[in-house]
Amino acid sequence: MKLSIQKCSNYNPENLEMALERLIQPFGSFSGILKDRRKVLIKPNLLSAKSPEKAVTTHPSIVEWFVRGFQKIGASVYLGDSPPIGIGRIEEYWKKTGMSDVVEKTGAKFLYFEKETSRMHRIASGKLQTDISLLDMAFDKDVLILNLAKLKSHNLTVITGAVKNFFGLVPGLQKPKLHKIFPDSFDFGKLIAQIAQLFPNSFTVIDGITGMDGDGPAGGNPINTCVLLASEHPLAADLAFCKIIGTSPESLPIISESLKLNPHVTLEKIEISGNSLSEVKYSGFNLPKAPLFLKIPKPLFKLVQKLIKPKPRICQSKCIKCRACINICPAHAISLNDSSDTVKLNYSKCIACFCCTEVCPKNAIDIHIGSLLNLLKFLRALLRRY
Ligand code: SF4
Ligand code: SF4
Repeated sequence: MKLSIQKCSNYNPENLEMALERLIQPFGSFSGILKDRRKVLIKPNLLSAKSPEKAVTTHPSIVEWFVRGFQKIGASVYLGDSPPIGIGRIEEYWKKTGMSDVVEKTGAKFLYFEKETSRMHRIASGKLQTDISLLDMAFDKDVLILNLAKLKSHNLTVITGAVKNFFGLVPGLQKPKLHKIFPDSFDFGKLIAQIAQLFPNSFTVIDGITGMDGDGPAGGNPINTCVLLASEHPLAADLAFCKIIGTSPESLPIISESLKLNPHVTLEKIEISGNSLSEVKYSGFNLPKAPLFLKIPKPLFKLVQKLIKPKPRICQSKCIKCRACINICPAHAISLNDSSDTVKLNYSKCIACFCCTEVCPKNAIDIHIGSLLNLLKFLRALLRRY
């Protein structure tokens, strides 16, 4: 198994093109990646309707470069994602993230996942199981899925990279409902790891030129991680991501579950080309606050959960009452209080999935952690320093 790493400090066309060419060269460039398939489904991370410099979504210059490269060798190229939409329409997401321009310039075709045919899959995690409908085209043997992920932190799963990006192949509002069915982070991680496992017909690239840390995946801080990663296996790219930011893959809900499903994927066994992992190391990646509670043993967590459970908190002065959070919340924990004209949270219903933070267009929802978690955070920072 191969992993390719390229340092790249910005999205300027000459820099970027050179880095991308070097990135895919170890895989035989476009024809080596496409093999005998004739179609490419590009799946960028289009989580929010935000402009590329916010670092929430895969940069359009990378998407465009891949569209053109695959078109040049005769492939039909499709582009799509299914972000959690609380308000508005998918077209708004395509426009703001720069994808409409890519399609206009290249003639690639947008896919509305919600309008395409889907097929059902039964997925079990822990004692729970459910049927999920997934985009039918993604199973087509003639289709390469180009998994164009983004290097970001994530309030529920700590990081969101390559394996998590496959969750967007689940069309529509099933995604928030799945949070309700699998509220435990590790059960949710197992669900995502199993979804990614269904698509061996993929090739992964992580856009980490500008990454995100802090309270990702939508409201964190853009950071200059200056790296591009590519692999035939999404887990290989995510293991590299963990190494670069100095976090243990075994402690992360999705990656630890993916490791159980793919014990053969280890950094020691992967052939690395381009830059070495030490050359692209990023010190000072701020992990999100909320997942600190993952480190607390479950029996203890049950005892002290009131003190430590992270909670979304609405900043009323930023809120424009658009209702996106109300529409997306799988636990119906948010409502509009007509008399006070404020958006209210019912904490007894909240399952801490943080879907509301992902859809808020004004970053008006932050995450409040209890005093015990604050203490843990302080101790962690202290341990890192010494
Ligand atoms: S309020 Fe936010 S974090 Fe709580 S369940 Fe609803 S969407 Fe999830
Ligand atoms: S908190 Fe955000 S998503 Fe919810 S109503 Fe206000 S602006 Fe809209």
